[in-house]
Amino acid sequence: MSEGITQPDLALLAFAREIRPKAYAPYSDFRVGAAIFAGGEIFQGVNVENAAFGSTICAERGAAMAAVAAGFREFDAIAVVGDSDAPTVPCGACRQFLAEFNPEMRVIMGGCTDAVEVTTLDRLLPDAFVRGYLDQHDGEDDE
Ligand SMILES: [Zn+2]
Repeated sequence: MSEGITQPDLALLAFAREIRPKAYAPYSDFRVGAAIFAGGEIFQGVNVENAAFGSTICAERGAAMAAVAAGFREFDAIAVVGDSDAPTVPCGACRQFLAEFNPEMRVIMGGCTDAVEVTTLDRLLPDAFVRGYLDQHDGEDDE
C-alpha cells in the first residue's frame, strides 16, 4: 500500500469516519463507515448486520448502492474506516463488488488511530472478474 496521501483522501476519510457511528453492528460490535466519491458527490454507507449473519451488508457495499441509486456508476475513490487499530481493509466480497464500478479506484483506509493507508483497488484485487469477461462469451453453450 504505497500511494501518497492527499488532502482529498483525508477529506473523503472524514466522511467515512463521520458516518461510522451510525453502523448497526450489535453482533460484532465492529462499526464501519464508508464514503465513495463519484461524479463530484459523496455517498456514505455503514455496515448493517442481521441475526441471519449471511444477510449482513458491509459499509462499502452500502455506499456503493447509494451511489448507483443516485445515478453514478463510475467511482473515483472510496474511504473505509473501521474499529481496528490498523487501517480497515475492504473484505473480499466488497473488493469484487467495487471492481464493477472502477477496478482502479483509489482506496483510502483508516481505523481507530491516526494511521492511514492509501492504495488502488487493482492492488487489493488483481485480475478482478469484470464485465469484459462476459462480453467475450458468445451466448452458446460449449457442449
Ligand atoms: Zn465487505
